[in-house]
Amino acid sequence: MLRTYESLQLERELKRAMERKEFRLYYQPKLDLVTGKIIGVEALIRWDHPEKGLVPPLEFIPLAEETGFIIELGEWVLTTACLQNKAWQEAGYLPLLMSVNLSARQLYQPNFVQRVNQILNETKHAPECLIFEITEGIMLDAFHAPRVIKELKSIGVQISLDDFGTGFNSLQYLHELPIDKIKIDQSFIRNCTSDLNDATIVKSVIELAHQLKMGVIAEGIETKEQLNYLQQNLCNIGQGYLFSKPLPPKELVKNFNQIEQVMIRDGVPPERNYQIRIKESMENNRQEMLNRVKMQQGLFFKFKKMEGKFIHTLCDGKLLYRMGLTPNQVIGKELSDFLPLSFAEDLDRYYRKAWDGEEDVTYEKEINGIYYITSLSPIRRGGFVTEVIGASINITKLKQAEEALKVSESKYRIITENTQDLIRVINLNNRIEYASPSHETVLGYPPEVYQGHLIFEMMHPDDVVRVKNQYADMALSRNPMQTEFRLKYANGGWVDLEIKATPVFHNDKIKQFVIVARDITKRKQAEELIRKSEKLSVVGQLASSIAHEIRNPLTTIKGFVQLLQKEVDLPVYFDTMFSEIKRLEEIIQEFLSLAKPNVCKIKEISLNILLKQVLSLFESQSIMNDIQITKEFDLNLPLIQCDGNQMKQVFIQILQNAVEAMPNGGTIKVQMSGHGTDFVKIRFNDEGSGISKERMRKIGEPFYSTKEKGTGMGLMISYKIVKDHGGWIEMDSSINHGTTVEVILPIKNSNSGIRMDESKNLLLGKKDDTIEKITDARYLVK
Ligand code: C2E
Ligand code: MG
Ligand code: MG
Repeated sequence: MLRTYESLQLERELKRAMERKEFRLYYQPKLDLVTGKIIGVEALIRWDHPEKGLVPPLEFIPLAEETGFIIELGEWVLTTACLQNKAWQEAGYLPLLMSVNLSARQLYQPNFVQRVNQILNETKHAPECLIFEITEGIMLDAFHAPRVIKELKSIGVQISLDDFGTGFNSLQYLHELPIDKIKIDQSFIRNCTSDLNDATIVKSVIELAHQLKMGVIAEGIETKEQLNYLQQNLCNIGQGYLFSKPLPPKELVKNFNQIEQVMIRDGVPPERNYQIRIKESMENNRQEMLNRVKMQQGLFFKFKKMEGKFIHTLCDGKLLYRMGLTPNQVIGKELSDFLPLSFAEDLDRYYRKAWDGEEDVTYEKEINGIYYITSLSPIRRGGFVTEVIGASINITKLKQAEEALKVSESKYRIITENTQDLIRVINLNNRIEYASPSHETVLGYPPEVYQGHLIFEMMHPDDVVRVKNQYADMALSRNPMQTEFRLKYANGGWVDLEIKATPVFHNDKIKQFVIVARDITKRKQAEELIRKSEKLSVVGQLASSIAHEIRNPLTTIKGFVQLLQKEVDLPVYFDTMFSEIKRLEEIIQEFLSLAKPNVCKIKEISLNILLKQVLSLFESQSIMNDIQITKEFDLNLPLIQCDGNQMKQVFIQILQNAVEAMPNGGTIKVQMSGHGTDFVKIRFNDEGSGISKERMRKIGEPFYSTKEKGTGMGLMISYKIVKDHGGWIEMDSSINHGTTVEVILPIKNSNSGIRMDESKNLLLGKKDDTIEKITDARYLVK
């Protein structure tokens, strides 16, 4: 740096001045513009030069800053100012705020904050009563300045931003830094009553400072007009020649009263000032409220009835913008001014209710994809509603969650609505809240029939007590349970169900039970078939061995009887013996045919012809018994693959039973028709005595006969033959009305030769009360 002779000279002189104690601190008072009292002073340095007299700071501070002498000088200023303030306090003056100017150089000196702290300790000065005045230029170092300022704040001193408006526009620092006061530069104050621009700036800076919760000081107040303008615009603190020039401490103290008189003489009268402040504070509150309204996530509004219309007097909040509206579109307007007419009319109803005094009017609406809920509260004055306040909150997220829930619910619905399983939701009182549509297919009643009813209502009486206990246990243990019970089928009979019941919890409390039930009638039926077939297979084996055991001795007996016949002449006895032996042989034959693996002679046969042959065998017998046999054959049926002799045996057996069941005559109807595309059905319907349900169950089992002399083998063998052909026999009977036997045979025989123990393919389909509803062949052929 090129130094001039003068500057080098000055530097030497400053150092000497310090040694010679030629520096002085002058103090300029700061007044509270509301109370008119001196609240603090600003320390301003002077150099009492032996020849030049008082040298103003601007003539030596810049050089001191340049050379670094400012550090030493600054410490002297701070120490002196603190000592002076302390002295005043000890002399009994009210504690004043001491303002000290800082240069950038000082601020960036290492350990500056510790130094300040040290000086405050040494002088026993309260940090709260010290204000550092810094200029905007200090902010140039955007890294250090904020850090040091924050440190200073942390030891308790205040920061004031000096010469505000002259330097760099540091508005952004204003809210980033912990600044307590803004000091409007005197250049703006000078013209604030003559220049509209400056007036506006001053006013705006004051408002801005207030917005930021900072105090405002005006420096350089020289006239009454300037003071009044600042007071009108709510500047907090004033400083300037109008009150006092910077003075040496002794003189300042002497002039204290006189200085405060200036405010009484030139300031705005106290009452007026008070009004201004009240108005201001009201305005502030209002502004504050509006800001809060604006900041709030929701939406806040007010309306009044004016000339029959609901006019909004206030409206703001983030939600409003979300809805795609602005306060300007709403305030001073009625609903139809900014909303589609139908929507406006809809809302108008609620507005009217609230205006008519109804409390807690709430509504839920949607605007531009935003869902919100609004509540209206009427405000009364003197018994009348004078305005209505409304508040809305955004519930879009909630709605979206609800929507998502609905989607997932609908997924479940698809399952529950389409499953073959029964799904039920049961409440804690054992009543059915929901029954799936599958109830109709499984139980024959539409689901509505069950809704609201007790779960035990259509349950088999034998199951109720057990199931009730199981439910109670589940509610207690809170664990899912599995059971079985029977429910009534619409057309009579019962449907076997396997049940899984699960408690549904809400906040750890059981709220409902969900029941999933599966129709296991088919399974039960299969089990029944297996049971029966097992019986058959055992009997088959047994029969085979018994047959052999009996046949051999029987042959011997027969031979000896024939020999005896020649020697003894008792023809009646022998006839009887032979007929009994013949009967025994027949039984054995039957046994053996049951036990023997079937050797079928499968041929393509016309059932038409075969049945006609069989019927012709019954002609004489039926005439004798006064029985009429009618035929109703579908002549278009194809040939079927079967063993003609075995099939004849089946039909003869069935017809024989029918004839025997009708001792008093009647009609036997024989019908033959297609059954689906792959089967034919031969139906024998008699008008005989009928068979009871209990007996029906046992038909087809060996050694069970409804006939006095029957062995029960005949029908069992028929079942077996039909089954071996891949078909089945269905029987239905009611006492005194007759019996219907249906033989269903496949057109193409693929099951020929099936063995009895292949239980899965056992197709001894037979109606009893547990499988009554299954009439569709598909169930049985699977
Ligand atoms: P500043 O901090 O803005 O101080 C206010 C200046 O305006 C003072 O000038 C003061 O005498 C003057 N003033 C006050 N009221 C009126 C008024 O009504 N009309 C007019 N025309 N002027 C008024 P001063 O004392 O000459 O100080 C000038 C500047 O020197 C100060 O400006 C401050 O930046 C700096 N300064 C003064 N003392 C110190 C100090 O101890 N350390 C540092 N670093 N700088 C200082
Ligand atoms: Mg200053
Ligand atoms: Mg200034």
